[in-house]
Amino acid sequence: MAQHFLLSAAARTLSLKAIYAGGEEKAYTTFRKLRWPNTDGEAVCPHCGGVDAYEITTRRRFKCAACGKQFSVTSGTILASRKMSFVDLLAALCIIANAAKGISALQLARDLDCQHKTAFVLAHKLREALASETNGASLTGEVEIDGAYFGGHIRPSNKAENRVDRRLAQHQTGKRRVVIALRQRKGRTLTSVVRHEAEGVEIAKRVVDRMAVMHADEASHWDALHAGWQVGRVNHSLAYSNGESCTNQAESFFSRLRRMVDGQHHAVSPQYLHQYAAHAAWLENNSRLDNGALTYSALGLALNHKVSRNWKGYWQRRI
Ligand SMILES: [Zn+2]
Repeated sequence: MAQHFLLSAAARTLSLKAIYAGGEEKAYTTFRKLRWPNTDGEAVCPHCGGVDAYEITTRRRFKCAACGKQFSVTSGTILASRKMSFVDLLAALCIIANAAKGISALQLARDLDCQHKTAFVLAHKLREALASETNGASLTGEVEIDGAYFGGHIRPSNKAENRVDRRLAQHQTGKRRVVIALRQRKGRTLTSVVRHEAEGVEIAKRVVDRMAVMHADEASHWDALHAGWQVGRVNHSLAYSNGESCTNQAESFFSRLRRMVDGQHHAVSPQYLHQYAAHAAWLENNSRLDNGALTYSALGLALNHKVSRNWKGYWQRRI
């Protein structure tokens, strides 16, 4: 039997050992090459686009010959104002890329010997950048749609007489959300977070090609899909696959996302659920990349993503 890709040596092209043996200068060169791929790492001014810059080597900064402004390899990107060394940042990205089910901020902080706050914000900035990989993407061919509920668990009271009907709206916490996954067979997975599964129809209108064949389960709100697409339906109370239709690939994505949320993060804020979903989708979409390519892909996305409005100065706003 053929060996599974992830078990093969070809899947392992980067290690923490190699990153730290390479040191700060080599990590810095990697950052430059991924920030400025078109000039093979030669600085391009983020203010005016000028390609002529003086290098202030002692500070790893540049001064643009055209506009006179100073910048660094991370200026204007989601990794701007970094305090971590380049080698530690690269190691952080490698650790995150290696974690097939994600990694909690606490565990990342222990691996990197940094504050939990630092690891938390770094991981979230990275998730925001990873999500941008599928910006503007559309799906075609065979596309499965499904929703899964996350969060809002209500712990039953200890004594039976105090227990409430947890299905009723007045007993809900307001923290429950639905992740909608749209998964093209042999293609990409796109995710969104909404309050009601029915909102998935509007999302499909935005991202699924009208020539695609969609697959959905028996939930009645998916009936609306028939107006726009050819749709195969499967009734899960009868079978998970009826030979013509199934949503098994969307379900398999959810089982991985659930293992990420329950097994690593334990609880996630509904406000940030979309970032975890995007992280899981990125892992799913790139599952055949070796871990070096995965790390560099993550770094490339981060260095081409603008400063985060949500995560810049996150803790300063919360003190
Ligand atoms: Zn300039």
